[in-house]
Amino acid sequence: MVTTPPPDPFETPDRKALAALVADFTMREIAPNIDTWERELELPRELHKAAGAIGLLGVGYAEDLGGSGGDTVDATIITEQLFANGGSGGVGAGLFTHGIAIPHVIDAVRAHQANGNTGDADWLIDSFVRPVLAGEKIAALAVTEPDGGSDVAHLRTSAKQSGDSWVINGNKTFITSGARADVVVVAARTGGPGAEGVSLFAVDTSTPGFEVTRRLEKMGWHCSDTAELAFVDMVIPERALLTPNNGGGFASLARHFALERISLATTAYSTAARSLDLTIEWARERETFGQPLMNRQVIRHQLVEMYRQTEVARSFTRNVAIKHAAGESVLLDAVLAKNTAVEACEYVVDRAVQIHGGYGYMTGSEVERHYRDSRILGIGGGATEVMTDLAAKLLGW
Ligand SMILES: Cc1cc2nc3c(=O)[nH]c(=O)nc-3n(C[C@H](O)[C@H](O)[C@H](O)COP(=O)(O)OP(=O)(O)OC[C@H]3O[C@@H](n4cnc5c(N)ncnc54)[C@H](O)[C@@H]3O)c2cc1C
Repeated sequence: MVTTPPPDPFETPDRKALAALVADFTMREIAPNIDTWERELELPRELHKAAGAIGLLGVGYAEDLGGSGGDTVDATIITEQLFANGGSGGVGAGLFTHGIAIPHVIDAVRAHQANGNTGDADWLIDSFVRPVLAGEKIAALAVTEPDGGSDVAHLRTSAKQSGDSWVINGNKTFITSGARADVVVVAARTGGPGAEGVSLFAVDTSTPGFEVTRRLEKMGWHCSDTAELAFVDMVIPERALLTPNNGGGFASLARHFALERISLATTAYSTAARSLDLTIEWARERETFGQPLMNRQVIRHQLVEMYRQTEVARSFTRNVAIKHAAGESVLLDAVLAKNTAVEACEYVVDRAVQIHGGYGYMTGSEVERHYRDSRILGIGGGATEVMTDLAAKLLGW
């Protein structure tokens, strides 16, 4: 009996149309401008508005909140196409920062709606969710502190209740889009020590006491601004608390880390795929000792190894995205996908620079940018060692 294989969720007509839309947007609005944005050290607000206008920022979010619908597979397609058509890690990080912030606000919206508290739900939707998905406001997530990022349960920023307000004091660092953000989801301690005391708040950055203390310079992601923030007696309304008091914040962060890790894994294999494409093209054109590099078996074998590692990471991560979209728990899978894709990416970008020779080391060559940009992937969103340790715990070892 001949059985037809199930259709590939990445190849449905709607998703092919989404891929074409992102490819066109990237080639038109992003690729020609990256070098300028890298020099200016930030993305323009117009880019957020343009991406919002065609619904890209809303992919993965419900339509009643101003989103475009779709799921993790659609979000994965956006990242893949961004890189395949000349985008960069810095653009992805800076344009889609809301992906790590807004899900926490949406959880609070849904909890308010379930309790019949439509006033607070609508306030969160209108002040934070809709304008961000439309590209009119920029969102960031502020968890990491100068004393440490991996150990989230021990953060020190404090939030104290005072009448019908919260007063927040503390410092955050390495915050993506922190210098441009209009809204920031802030993790602060409302209770005792450890994970149980962590809560999340939605903060409007025009609030007195919110300060961008420094714009940080870094190895890569130059067009994505990264900031140090301070909160000095910052008073925010009671309803800005997003998570149930005592413990809700850490649980919310842990729950949404899975999606962030799938996104970082996708960034890693998409960076590798683009670097491989550029290197194949280069190996066909560049001649040494009278022959194209591609004629050398040692080069072809390296290209095959780059291809193998990229494909393993792509197929594993896509499978995790499909499971996540189906509502399955992917805590372990997401961790393994991130480590697998980051390892593949590190190998591929290193070989890409090597095969490009001196040109690969020059500022302005695309492989040089990918080499620098991708170095963060094994550090942010959970460092590789921390991911491996978490995998051991999730496996019960
Ligand atoms: C460009 C950039 C953008 C970022 N964006 C954001 C953002 O938007 N919001 C936000 O909140 N944070 C953000 N971060 C912070 C990022 O999440 C942290 O850098 C990361 O979690 C690691 O924390 P840390 O830098 O404090 O390193 P530490 O926690 O001090 O760890 C240092 C290193 O030690 C090793 N290590 C740590 N723990 C263990 C362990 N248990 N066992 C073995 N080895 C270990 C790892 O190699 C790790 O890289 C960003 C960081 C960068 C660089």
